[in-house]
Amino acid sequence: MRKEIHECRKICRKYSARVYFHRMSNSQAGYCDYESSSIYINSNFTDRNIILSILFHELAHLECYKNHKWSGYHRAKYAEEQVNCGLKAERYCDRWAEMELYKYDKRVKFVKSYAGSNKELKDFLKNFFLGVQESS
Ligand SMILES: [Zn+2]
Repeated sequence: MRKEIHECRKICRKYSARVYFHRMSNSQAGYCDYESSSIYINSNFTDRNIILSILFHELAHLECYKNHKWSGYHRAKYAEEQVNCGLKAERYCDRWAEMELYKYDKRVKFVKSYAGSNKELKDFLKNFFLGVQESS
């Protein structure tokens, strides 16, 4: 695991980003903070393929934010906006991440964050952004 942390830090330097490994619930892979260009990865993951896939997916969000891509998602004023374009934006990030990861190391198999059905994803995004969360 320590090797992967070191590797992720090295990759992030190229993108002027920072990465932190935190304990999170298992339903969460990672997230990022645009203002500080920081990426947070669930430290429960130990598989290099998965860790690098999460890292590049979150890097995609930071790149989108910097370049004003999918602003309705990354710079949204209303949660509804995010739900509406969320799926496309997330899939765009997956595609960007897959390409960048391939350039970085062809041997790593990219694991998509958003490969599920549309219905499943829409529900997920609704819960995520509109706070329709079940208490646990
Ligand atoms: Zn995402």
